[in-house]
Amino acid sequence: MTVKTRFAPSPTGYLHVGGARTALYSWLYAKHNKGEFVLRIEDTDLERNSQEAVDAIMEGMEWLGLEWNEGPYFQTQRFDRYNEMVDVLLAQDKAYKCYASKELLDEVRSEQEANKEMARYDANHPKIKAANDAAKDGDPCVIRFRNPKEGSVVFDDQIRGRIEISNSQMDDLIIRRTDGSPTYNFCVVVDDWDMEITHVIRGEDHINNTPRQINIYEALGAPVPTFAHCAMILGDDGAKLSKRHGAVSVMQYRDMGYLPEALNNYLVRLGWSHGDQEIFSQEEMIEFFSLNAISKSASAFNTDKLLWLNNHYIKTSEPEYVAKHLQWHLDQQALNIENGPAITEVIKLVGERCNTLVELAEQIRYFYEDFAEFEAGAAKKHLRGVAKEPLEVALAKVEAIEEWTTENLHQMIADVCAELEIGMGKIGMPLRVAVTGGGQSPSVDAVMQLIGKERCVARIKMALAFIAEREANA
Ligand code: GLU
Repeated sequence: MTVKTRFAPSPTGYLHVGGARTALYSWLYAKHNKGEFVLRIEDTDLERNSQEAVDAIMEGMEWLGLEWNEGPYFQTQRFDRYNEMVDVLLAQDKAYKCYASKELLDEVRSEQEANKEMARYDANHPKIKAANDAAKDGDPCVIRFRNPKEGSVVFDDQIRGRIEISNSQMDDLIIRRTDGSPTYNFCVVVDDWDMEITHVIRGEDHINNTPRQINIYEALGAPVPTFAHCAMILGDDGAKLSKRHGAVSVMQYRDMGYLPEALNNYLVRLGWSHGDQEIFSQEEMIEFFSLNAISKSASAFNTDKLLWLNNHYIKTSEPEYVAKHLQWHLDQQALNIENGPAITEVIKLVGERCNTLVELAEQIRYFYEDFAEFEAGAAKKHLRGVAKEPLEVALAKVEAIEEWTTENLHQMIADVCAELEIGMGKIGMPLRVAVTGGGQSPSVDAVMQLIGKERCVARIKMALAFIAEREANA
């Protein structure tokens, strides 16, 4: 048996992290079993669905690298097939026409509530029976599924264990509306059957649909798939994760400077574990993934951990790969990197200091663009009269360097210290502010090496001019 899983979002908005985690689990389970993964768009709610949402979901899936082997299928293109199966059930008397009007059903429900009975559709209720008996062929009607009356539905949820629901808890579900359109729970079953889905991995919010769906599979003579219902994701305050907690859309995480590896790694651990391992390459996730190691309880979203993982992936991924993802942020921040050092070298030097690609893009501007002013705080502190002589001596030595290497720049700083009998701090910080414009950067010799000689010379001169002006105004 080939394992086949699916992700079946309803296109009502962007791909949110909860959906992305379900998609990732379904994808991993398929990959782990060398099976297949299907994308199905459940777009029957014409009022709430949109093409933009379909595009946004696919963009999110592609960005995460969750490619699908089949689909996307669209439920709106399969109405004939669903109706064909409704007719099959009708012909077998496993479904029937119900003519009870909405008003009548409301009346019966109020009666049931007044009698403290469970409010539900009851085909044997005298008023409903009378309405059905009086109806003529051609009157408006819905089609209801004849749910078994006896016994119970039992299934072995791969996450939550054995679940048993009595059929007496379920009423006869409408499977085709008066307007002829098939309903959600029915479409899902026909789809999962036709698409030969073996494992349905989905959110816990669907667990109440499962017993009803199992009865429909059985009525259709279709094999019942294995089910796994994942617990919810909560915000840091314990409430279900929502916009209120900040970003919930996958593409917002791209915008905030995350690498897809970091988000995938974060999401896989949010509710699944393999010992106490935190960092998983994609190969490892695929190798170790199993449904029964998914947690039954809800998981709380933790942005600090996601940042930590992102820093890990920025630090350890190939610089060429980071550069590819960084480019989008450089465009956003209008930073042109043609006129400066190779971006991969800059990433190697600065990447480890950044938790996001947004920070990285912000922190590397001085490698590529000259600045008109020094950062006020850093300049006030480090570009003072005492820094004049060290910077002058450094300038002369920098101009004399023939081979522009980090080692020679390192030696230059050591020579300035020795010559003036000063500590590192007295030249290191002024030099850093001079060449980067601010007080924070990686090791100044390595930074200067990448910035290049010409720019460094010009910037040290600019710092000396700044000090001179400051002294003149004092
Ligand atoms: N379309 C449903 C949703 O977006 C998923 C249904 C399912 O996975 O069976 O919540």
